[in-house]
Amino acid sequence: MFQPDEIIRSNRKTISVCITPLGKITVRAPLRCNEERIFAFLREKEGWIAKHLRKTIGACTRIPTENLDGFSFLLLGKMHTVSLVDGNKVGYDSENLRVFVPRVKARERLVKWLKENAKRILSEVTAKTASEMQVSYRSVSVTSAKSRWGSCTADNAVRYSFRLIYAPKEVVRYVVVHELAHTRYKNHSALFWKEVEIYEPRYRERRKWLKENGILMEIF
Ligand SMILES: [Zn+2]
Repeated sequence: MFQPDEIIRSNRKTISVCITPLGKITVRAPLRCNEERIFAFLREKEGWIAKHLRKTIGACTRIPTENLDGFSFLLLGKMHTVSLVDGNKVGYDSENLRVFVPRVKARERLVKWLKENAKRILSEVTAKTASEMQVSYRSVSVTSAKSRWGSCTADNAVRYSFRLIYAPKEVVRYVVVHELAHTRYKNHSALFWKEVEIYEPRYRERRKWLKENGILMEIF
């Protein structure tokens, strides 16, 4: 029997359940819905919940990192699965969301591949977004920082944690907009957030996602 981690009551008529990538079970319920009804609903959905929990990051991070075969993780917000293979190149199957990683030095090679792709993707998004925002920056680099998703130096060098590519595209875009807005405002003033909001009107939602999924920083 599953326990909800969070029950959100609102002016709605039905009960629904959703599972975050980290395995948090959130139930949405009508204002005057008693717990008994909520638990009955969860019992009814037991199979569905179990199936989805198996796919979450929470379940994945428990897999021993020494053996990456079958390890699942998010790439641009979509769950991908690792298959260990012979050979020495990392392969990618975008259709089936699989990453093929050489058996030898698997972890090292996967991290290298993630960093290369992070650098490519984040450079592209930054260039595109900068022209949209009509700002300029000095460079883009990718770090292994675990404490922050991105930063912008005094002389406008933009840095991102490579782990940012675990996040959905819209969240990536928010971080890019945020760092580029720092080329105009070196602080988090009201003016800064106004600038962010122009290019990412749903920035509050994106920030919330990063906060709730902070554990992604712990993967590799
Ligand atoms: Zn900032």
